[in-house]
Amino acid sequence: MSDGTKVDAPKPLKKRIKKYRKLSKSLSNKTRGSNRYEKARLRIAKFHAKLKDTRTDFLHKLSTKIICENQTIVLEDLNVSGMVKNRKLSRAISDLGWRQFRTLLEGKAEKYGRDFRVISRWEATSQTCSCCGFKGGKLELSVREWECLNCGAKHDRDENAAINILVAGGQSETLNGRGGKRKTTAKVAAACVSDSYAKQNVNPPRS
Ligand SMILES: [Zn+2]
Repeated sequence: MSDGTKVDAPKPLKKRIKKYRKLSKSLSNKTRGSNRYEKARLRIAKFHAKLKDTRTDFLHKLSTKIICENQTIVLEDLNVSGMVKNRKLSRAISDLGWRQFRTLLEGKAEKYGRDFRVISRWEATSQTCSCCGFKGGKLELSVREWECLNCGAKHDRDENAAINILVAGGQSETLNGRGGKRKTTAKVAAACVSDSYAKQNVNPPRS
């Protein structure tokens, strides 16, 4: 995020990949339509449902937190379906549930009167220095830190990109048409927080 926060997302499939392979191997050994096949198929369905629950639970909590703490949220329109076609990235991205994350943020922004914006995927957010605007050229995905050749600023790849996304978002059209008109009031924020805690069945921390 643009404030430097990093979020460690659960990767439920990565964690249970051995179990997944075992389950699908067991399915492929059975005769289609047999009782044993049905049982194995069911086990896989349950396995997938569990992964989905883990992802959804995490994404709900994260999106609620982001919406509660920020008036304006800017995302980069990453080409998720295009990236999922790239076999290397495919499993990792699907495992994180990026598409669902965006949908959740969008819905909650609407509900709580936040300004939700999406900037084009063609902005050079990773390669531009957020301090001086110098474009350093394309970075391999493995490069996580870099130094600007122009001003010498040292960047964390993701944080630098997030700052550029936020700046680009300031110049873009607002998606839900509420840009600038609404301000977060303490009341809205408090309602938002208690609502989210109620949904998660936990008590809000005492302040
Ligand atoms: Zn620079």
